Amino acid sequence: NRNKTFEYRIMPYGEEHLLLIARDVTRVSQLEEMRKDFVANVSHELRTPLTVINGYLEIMPPGDADNPFVQKAMTEMTAQTQRMQNLIEDLLVLSRIEASSERIYEYVLNMPAVLEQIEREAQALNKEKQHQIRLEVDTSLKVFGVETEIRSACSNLVFNAVHYTPANGEIVVRWQRTEQGARFSVTDNGDGIPQNHLSRLTERFYRVDKARSRKTGGSGLGLSIVKHVLSHHNSQLEITSTVGEGSEFFFVLDNELIAEQKR
Ligand code: ADP
Repeated sequence: NRNKTFEYRIMPYGEEHLLLIARDVTRVSQLEEMRKDFVANVSHELRTPLTVINGYLEIMPPGDADNPFVQKAMTEMTAQTQRMQNLIEDLLVLSRIEASSERIYEYVLNMPAVLEQIEREAQALNKEKQHQIRLEVDTSLKVFGVETEIRSACSNLVFNAVHYTPANGEIVVRWQRTEQGARFSVTDNGDGIPQNHLSRLTERFYRVDKARSRKTGGSGLGLSIVKHVLSHHNSQLEITSTVGEGSEFFFVLDNELIAEQKR
């Protein structure tokens, strides 16, 4: 039946048979589609009014410039509308990636160049924290993939390391060939993450320390974006972390996706 969606499982049944179980998930996937559409539409609709508010806030005369209350209110309103804008942009990115049907084998992605640019952006973010950020990149390692998506996944991981590592930390970004494929990793020597949080980190809006994460201005969607991008590239995010020592966030793109090997 073409209008239905099924989930299949195959398992051994006795010595000579296989058992095929088909589960009708039509309703579940319809609801999931409706949820995705709804989120995408709401985010889109919120964008315009916020742009207007932000625009006026930028050009508004300071009014009673000596009044500390007015000053504080202006600063706070600007920061909060900026936060809302970031959140909406991330919701839109997530919706786009969830719906992405871009074919990953169509584009060769110059990862070394992408990573150099991300490093420059990270250095700009790094003024206050003064971390040492180091790149260890195999400059000949190119892969098939959707550039905007992989760029967004890698920059989320690098910027998180900058944000969550206490000042004067060490962050290493690696892009290297391994037996399994092309491996990207970001290592930091920050506070680490307790084991019980690790499996939930890629859920939307999941944060280890809610109050602290809000202060960094993140949307809480970064790692969900990473998860969806990687699943689109047949990979997944892996995290190892030790409290008090730091974390490594990494993924491997399969050998199939390495560009030099494909003609
Ligand atoms: P956001 O950073 O906007 O809160 P993310 O989805 O990017 O959302 O990250 C989810 C949570 O994972 C963060 O709030 C933080 O608690 C934790 N986290 C992410 N990266 C690191 C890191 N390098 N070190 C410690 N904690 C991290």
